[in-house]
Amino acid sequence: MTPPFHSGFVCLVGRPNVGKSTLVNRLVGRPVSITSPKPQTTRQRVLGVCDHPAFQAVLVDTPGIHQARDAFNKRLVRYALSALADADLTLLIVEPLSAQRPEPGPEDALVLERVRAAGAAAVLVVNKIDLAPEADILATLGHYGALGCFAELIPVSALTGRGVERLLGLLPAHLPPGPRYFEDQQWTDQSEGALLGELVRQEVFRRTEQEIPYSTAVRVEHMEDKGDLRVVHARIFVERESQKGILIGKKGRMLRAIGEAARRKMESLLGCKIFLDLQVGVLADWSRDARRMDQLGYPEV
Ligand code: GDP
Repeated sequence: MTPPFHSGFVCLVGRPNVGKSTLVNRLVGRPVSITSPKPQTTRQRVLGVCDHPAFQAVLVDTPGIHQARDAFNKRLVRYALSALADADLTLLIVEPLSAQRPEPGPEDALVLERVRAAGAAAVLVVNKIDLAPEADILATLGHYGALGCFAELIPVSALTGRGVERLLGLLPAHLPPGPRYFEDQQWTDQSEGALLGELVRQEVFRRTEQEIPYSTAVRVEHMEDKGDLRVVHARIFVERESQKGILIGKKGRMLRAIGEAARRKMESLLGCKIFLDLQVGVLADWSRDARRMDQLGYPEV
C-alpha cells in the first residue's frame, strides 16, 4: 500500500531581513508560480509551493504582525492572524541570539505571542547559523526550547543550505493527508499583483522610519508582458505630501533604492526580467478610511 499523500499550508513568520525569501527559494528550489488556490478572501500570499513525491507544502506569508495603531494596520494584523489560524504549520524564523542580543527583541516577542495564541503546530527555524558561533546557536535553541511551544527547533543556513534538508524532512509529519493543491503553474493576477505590491511595501518598511511604513499602501495598477520582460506599474500611496517627499528622497534616491530592491526580489521570485515603474501618490488619511482601504486592495476579513 502506498502511504497517503500529505499536503497543507505552512505559514512563514519572521521579521524583515531574517532570511525568509532566501529560505523559501531553498525550500522550493526553483522560481515559483504564485497562485491562489481558492478565491482570494484575504491578502494571504502564497510564496511558493514545495512539491515532493510524498507531500506538498504551500508556503504562505504572514506580513504585518506588529503593534497596530490605526485601522489599516489592525486590518493587516488580522490578515496575519487569520493566516496563522488557518495554517497547518507555522515556521517562526529567527536569527541566532548573541551576547549583544541575549533575548528576542520586542517584535519577535510579539510574533511569538501571536503564534502561541494561534495554537497551531509551530517549528522554530534559527536561520543564519553560518554567521554565529556554535555556543550562540545552542543558547538560542535552549532559549526557545524552554518556551515549550515548538514541536521542533531546527538550525539552518538558508544561504548555504545547511539544515534545510532536515527542515524539509519534517514537513510531511506536520501536514494532514490531503490533495495536491497545485498541479502546475497557474496564475491569478489578483494574487500576483498583491504579492508584488507587498514586495514593494516590505522595502518601504525596511528603508523608512517612524510613521511612514504604517501609512504606506502599494497597488499594482497594471502588468504587461513585452517579450521576455514583464512590465509592472505600481503606485505607492502615502497620506501626506511630506511623506511623499521623504519616500522619493533627495534627487529620487530613496524611491530608486526601494524600486531596485523590490525589482530584484520580483525577478528572483518570478524567474523573469522585470521593469518596475514605481510612482508615489498621496491619498489623505486613507488608513483611517475603510472604503479607501477596500479600494487599495486591503479588504476586511
Ligand atoms: P527576508 O526579508 O526575511 O525575506 O530576508 P532575505 O531572504 O531577503 O535575506 C536578508 C539578507 O540576509 C540577505 O542579504 C540574505 O542574503 C541574507 N541571508 C539570508 N539567509 C542567510 C543565511 O542563512 N546566512 C547568511 N549569512 N545570510 C543570509
